[in-house]
Amino acid sequence: VFRPEDTQVTLGTAGGAVFGGSGFAVIAGPCAVESPAQMNAVVDSVVASGAVMLRGGAFKPRTSPYSFQGLGLAGLTLLAEQRKRTGLPVVTEVVTPGDVESVAEESDMLQIGARNMQNFELLREAGASGRPVLLKRGMSATIEEWLLAAEYVLHMGNSDVVLCERGIRSFERGTRFTLDLSAVAEAKRLTHLPVIVDPSHSTGKPHLVAPMSLAAAACGADGLIVDVHTDASNAMCDGAQALSGEQFSTLMGRLKPVVEAV
Ligand code: PEP
Repeated sequence: VFRPEDTQVTLGTAGGAVFGGSGFAVIAGPCAVESPAQMNAVVDSVVASGAVMLRGGAFKPRTSPYSFQGLGLAGLTLLAEQRKRTGLPVVTEVVTPGDVESVAEESDMLQIGARNMQNFELLREAGASGRPVLLKRGMSATIEEWLLAAEYVLHMGNSDVVLCERGIRSFERGTRFTLDLSAVAEAKRLTHLPVIVDPSHSTGKPHLVAPMSLAAAACGADGLIVDVHTDASNAMCDGAQALSGEQFSTLMGRLKPVVEAV
C-alpha cells in the first residue's frame, strides 16, 4: 500500500512508544513469560533503564516440541498485569489465527514471529484485529518477501505495521543467525514503515547485543526489541542470549549519543 509520508506507529497513552519519525523506541523484557516474580523483576529493571514498551512471549514457537512452549493464556494474563502495573504498552507473539482475538484483547501489539512470516491466514487475521503488528523477518525471507508479508496486514486496512530484522540464515555458525543490517537501511528506503532490530534472537550471544544495537541505531533503525532476564541462567527460554538488567542499563546509556547523532 503506497503512502508518500513515513508511517509512525504510536502505542500506549501520552505517546508512550513511537516507532518511526525521529525517535528511537526500545522494547525490552524476557523471551518468555515465566512467573509473576520473574515478570516483576525483569519489568522493574527494564523500566528503570528507560524501556518504553515491554515484551514477553506467552506462546513460544520452539524448534523442539520438548522445549518449554510458553504459559499460553496464563502467560498473557501475567503480561497484561505488567501492562496495568506500569502503564506501558506490551507486545507478544501470536502463533495461530484462532488466538488472535484473545492476544489482541490482552496486548497492545501483535508479534508475528520469523517462523510465521508467511502464514498468510495469521497475517490476515492480525490485520483484521485492528491492533498494530510487529512483523519479524523470516529467517530465509528476502526483503521483497518480507515487505509482501507486510502487505497482507496493510491490505486488511491496518496501517500500523512495524518491521523487525531478526537475522537470516547463512553459512555462519558462530552466531545464531546473521543480522542483516543492510536490510534495515534498504527496507527503510523501499517502504514508509518503521523498521526495528532484534539483536538478541539474531546473534544469540549477549556480548553481541550491545554492538549490534549501536550499529542498528547508527544505520537508521527506529528502535530495538531486546531480551532481558534478571536470572538468565535459570531462564526457561533462550536465557543464553538475554542481557542482565545491568547490561541493559549500560546499553541504554551507550545508545543515547548514537541515536542523537543520527
Ligand atoms: C521472539 O521474539 O520471541 C522470537 C521467537 O523471535 P523470532 O520469531 O525472531 O525467532
